[in-house]
Amino acid sequence: MKAIGNNEIKLIAMDFDGTLTRHKSKLDDVCRRVLDELARRYDLLIVGASSCEWIFDQTDGYPVDIIGYYGMRFSSVKDGKFTVKRECFAPIDTQSVIRRVNSLRAELGFTSYAGETVRFYTTGIISFPVLGTKATEEERLWFDPDRTKRRDVYGAVRDAFRDYTVFIGGESSFDLVPRPYNKLHALNDYIETKKIEHSQVVYFGDAYGEGENDEHIYKSDIRFICVNDAGEFPELAKKLL
Ligand SMILES: [Mg+2]
Repeated sequence: MKAIGNNEIKLIAMDFDGTLTRHKSKLDDVCRRVLDELARRYDLLIVGASSCEWIFDQTDGYPVDIIGYYGMRFSSVKDGKFTVKRECFAPIDTQSVIRRVNSLRAELGFTSYAGETVRFYTTGIISFPVLGTKATEEERLWFDPDRTKRRDVYGAVRDAFRDYTVFIGGESSFDLVPRPYNKLHALNDYIETKKIEHSQVVYFGDAYGEGENDEHIYKSDIRFICVNDAGEFPELAKKLL
């Protein structure tokens, strides 16, 4: 990765959860002020794994372009008004997915679950909630806080779903995103329309390990700044001011 001067940067792209805020929290005032300062020099873009609407809400309506759903939805804000600009959809073979998830449950010992075995979303994204769709929040939070249980079996889930990119998502699930969508794919789309090169982008992310949602960008030639705790973002970002 080549070091670049701040005057060559055009776009600051940022993950949301774990990077700008702690999980499910609102954007705080310190972070908001840093974003305001960055916005005076650069274009800003949030690239999240959850929905653009949730992210927009968590920012209390910050005027920034958002890529959501692992790169399957694009939104922007104009005159304070949130607009979905583009949505991608992919078909789902529900029977094949349920069969493969249940076979993984048997193989990996995840046979006890509450509610449904799989959750389907209209985009074509699928969630494999290890504890089932009706597990309580407490159960989900206790299951795998450091993600090691899911990291241990990540290879088996990935191999069963080669037609998807498998992410370790949420508190206790795997998110299956139809190929070719992922954050890097979406970021490439975005910068192509803006005529921005990889070398003019800086990305901040916290989830750059195997199976995590910033991994594709981390492994690309885009300059990646690792945020290991959301509280670090303001200090790290000030180096670009
Ligand atoms: Mg994150």
